[in-house]
Amino acid sequence: PAPLSDHGPARVVALCNQKGGVGKTTTTINLGAAIAEYGRRVLLVDFDPQGALSVGLGRLDPRELDLTVYNLLMQRDVTVEDVLLKTDVDGLDLIPSNIDLSAAEVQLVGEVAREQMLARSLRPVLDDYDVVLIDCQPSLGLLTVNALTAAHGVIVPLECEFFALRGVALLMDTIQKVQERLNDRLVIDGFLGTMYDPRTLHAREVLATIIDGFGDKVYSTVINRTIRFPDATVAGEPITRFDSSSAGANAYRELAKEVLARWPLSDHDA
Ligand code: ADP
Ligand code: MG
Repeated sequence: PAPLSDHGPARVVALCNQKGGVGKTTTTINLGAAIAEYGRRVLLVDFDPQGALSVGLGRLDPRELDLTVYNLLMQRDVTVEDVLLKTDVDGLDLIPSNIDLSAAEVQLVGEVAREQMLARSLRPVLDDYDVVLIDCQPSLGLLTVNALTAAHGVIVPLECEFFALRGVALLMDTIQKVQERLNDRLVIDGFLGTMYDPRTLHAREVLATIIDGFGDKVYSTVINRTIRFPDATVAGEPITRFDSSSAGANAYRELAKEVLARWPLSDHDA
């Protein structure tokens, strides 16, 4: 990808699948780090009360954080600058999360424009970044609707395993409703096969089914299942750093190229 002469406004992308364990958080952290390696300014938003993204970026005990995305959403006097954290990776910043966010789902219900709270909160910093990646929680509730309302695009990680497509119709339905009612610029950027084991017929069949269903919306980069990934949360940094020349790190660099190449140049400021 060509270097940028200037930064922003950011393209906002939600990583979304209401199934847990499909690689949303792993993809957010490593895709984000790989895009940052290409000289883009990247903001990662941990939007899961589990805080796995925050842990994966070195916030080993997110419960100790004073201010998180929860405060940003719910307190009008808290600004995005108050909650932003630098990471050890150049060009990669984080808005962290912790268990406090689990209360937001209920508390947001009483807010005016409750679906737009995240979009509003992020708006002041969009010009400072080229890319914002939102790591969604495994549900289709109000937090995920907030992420979809704030986004230009959605990336859907799919585990190349039994039942990969179970629940995807419901996800597509939710995306379409958000598009119709709240955010008409929203598009599906792509589907990403994860945890792929090229040695098993089963995984190859599942990947073929995914491609059958979604055609060229499926990234040609596929993330193999490798034992190097579970260490990421222990390492507290992206695999592009703790094992920079590994196959996993290179797969996310390939994905980053593909993701950047697919983005329309014109809809950033839509
Ligand atoms: P999600 O955010 O969708 O719940 P995660 O990214 O947290 O999924 O991944 C679930 C678990 O699988 C984590 O322990 C993670 O380290 C591991 N994992 C993710 N991607 C891979 C992979 N390509 N190969 C092996 N393990 C992986
Ligand atoms: Mg996760």
